[in-house]
Order: sequence, then C-alpha cells, then structure tokens
Amino acid sequence: MNFCPRCGTPLVPRLDGGRDRPTCPAEGCGYTYYGDASIGTGAVVLREDRVLLIQRKTAERIWWQIPGGFVEIDESITEAIEREILEETGVTARVRDVIAIRHAAGVQPQWPIANMYTIMRLDHVAGEPRPDLEESFEAGFYSIDEARGLQGLSGISLWAIERALGLPNHGMRVEPIREGLQRPGHTLLGLPLE
Ligand SMILES: [Zn+2]
Repeated sequence: MNFCPRCGTPLVPRLDGGRDRPTCPAEGCGYTYYGDASIGTGAVVLREDRVLLIQRKTAERIWWQIPGGFVEIDESITEAIEREILEETGVTARVRDVIAIRHAAGVQPQWPIANMYTIMRLDHVAGEPRPDLEESFEAGFYSIDEARGLQGLSGISLWAIERALGLPNHGMRVEPIREGLQRPGHTLLGLPLE
C-alpha cells in the first residue's frame, strides 16, 4: 500500500511493534497499514441426520463442500452465514453453535492475506435445496455415507460434518445482547456455562 486510504497522503515506513509498517505522516491522521485480512464462514446445516452440501464448479474442476462465503464488512457473522445458505441453496437455517475456527496466516506469496474461517452448525428451518447456478450447481441434503461418496468433497467440509453429526451441542453459542457486554456490531460467541 502506497497511499493513505483515509486522506491520500503518501505513506512512510515507521517502526511499530517490531516491524516497519506503512504509516500516514499527516497530522491528526495516524493511519497504519497492518496488512489485509478477510473473514469467511461455513455452515453444516442439519436436517435430522442429513447435511446440506453444494457442488461448486470452475473451468478447471468440480467439487463439493458445505455452503458459506465471505462476511461483509458491515454484517454480523451469523447474518452472513444465514444469507450465504439462502443465496446458495434457497434454504433457511438458524445458527445453533460454532464447531470450528480455522485461521490462515497470509504466508502464500501470491495470496498474502490472513483469513479467519468459522464453521457453524445450523438447523434447517424451511426450504428445499436448489442451486443458484452461479455459485452452486447442485444442492441437497446427504447422509454421511452419501457425502463420503461425493466426488471431490473438500477435506475440511468432511472433517466439519463428522464433528457436527457426532458431537453433542457443546459448541460456542451466540451470547444474547446485554448492556455493558457487547458494543454495536459485536457478535460474542462463547462456550455455554452448562
Ligand atoms: Zn492519512
């Protein structure tokens, strides 16, 4: 990054936290560039003992995975996952708990972006799966045995499905909004006390 995204001043390197970081020298601005990060979320949607899966496609390959996508900058993570599921499959689902978090450091030279990917367990509320034919090309509820037989099922999707089906409801829950606990925009996810 060469210019301040807040005021347009050319950035200069400044030592901060043990590293030289592009920093805005303009008086009263103080912007520091810490690198790029993105937030993703994935969904294991259960209908009894079946799980919602979609087929994705590019020119090079076809594979299956759990639905999900990127969280918009001004969107809560639970809104994001329910929106992605609805867009990709037409299914309405409700978050039950969080079953996994994957952090990816931005270590790949061609993709130096850190990412946090949170996998949630959700319950099917309404709707029969149908693909959107833009991001998903097939969509359906599958048993674990059927899922294992799908060509190119993503490794982390299968890993998450096994945990969502096999473990009791002891994942992190959405903490109800309480005065003094969360600020506007916060979604607090934590282990239940019981
Ligand atoms: Zn600036």
